[in-house]
Amino acid sequence: MIARGRNRTDAWNDATAHAELVAFREAAQIADAPGLDGAVLYSTLQPCGMCTMATIWTKVGRIVFGAGREDVHRMYFEDRNLDTMDFVKDAYRDDLVIDGGCLKDECAALYFRPGDDVPESEQGNL
Ligand SMILES: [Zn+2]
Repeated sequence: MIARGRNRTDAWNDATAHAELVAFREAAQIADAPGLDGAVLYSTLQPCGMCTMATIWTKVGRIVFGAGREDVHRMYFEDRNLDTMDFVKDAYRDDLVIDGGCLKDECAALYFRPGDDVPESEQGNL
């Protein structure tokens, strides 16, 4: 493992401090290079659009995630109709492997579920 991260958006007052980006930044410092060629990103949740694009730019070789869009509350994703995996499909790269559903139920239990009544003040993307 090169690095790991957790969501720091509130702690750092930084809307871009998603766990994936925190891990990418730390890994780049350790690797002393911006590219993480061939590295694997493990995430409990399908990466959002921002993190998916960052994965493409960092040249990560594989994404392994647990819960997907349908397994958690919609507030975790910024778009209703565009699946962030479409970014990967339409990227110039064709060597990025995506494996979703790894420990799906255990990972989904970490988040609000689709039918949960989440207070509007906690719904960042809605
Ligand atoms: Zn993200």
